[in-house]
Amino acid sequence: MTTIKLAMDDSDNNELRAKLDDEQFQVTQNKGTERAFTGKYVDHKAQGIYRCVCCDTELFSSEQKFDSGSGWPSFWLPLAGDTVQTKIDTSHGMTRSEVVCKNCDAHLGHVFEDGPQPTGLRYCINSASLDFRDSQE
Ligand SMILES: [Zn+2]
Repeated sequence: MTTIKLAMDDSDNNELRAKLDDEQFQVTQNKGTERAFTGKYVDHKAQGIYRCVCCDTELFSSEQKFDSGSGWPSFWLPLAGDTVQTKIDTSHGMTRSEVVCKNCDAHLGHVFEDGPQPTGLRYCINSASLDFRDSQE
């Protein structure tokens, strides 16, 4: 009873299934949200670059990471303005700005306007969407 039949036969999707764990897949492909304070990068302080877990695009830098107390990794600026895209998300009865990877459309999290200066933005990102690479490597 260990065989799981997948309804989808889209090859890209199967490739991602193989590459990602369940939570990473849920978050990036089905707009899931990991539980607050459970993500592996919430209190992560090492210097380096956070990449898209799906396509390896460089998205955020530890330079712009800050401790928001929200329970999710928070950044006040994406690494380069054109690697992440924001979309209006009206799910769950709220109007929020969804943050996605511009390259592969993976769901990353949401952006709020209560972050620190100079941008005043808070990119609230799921750890499960990110893959950290140490800048020493
Ligand atoms: Zn991506």
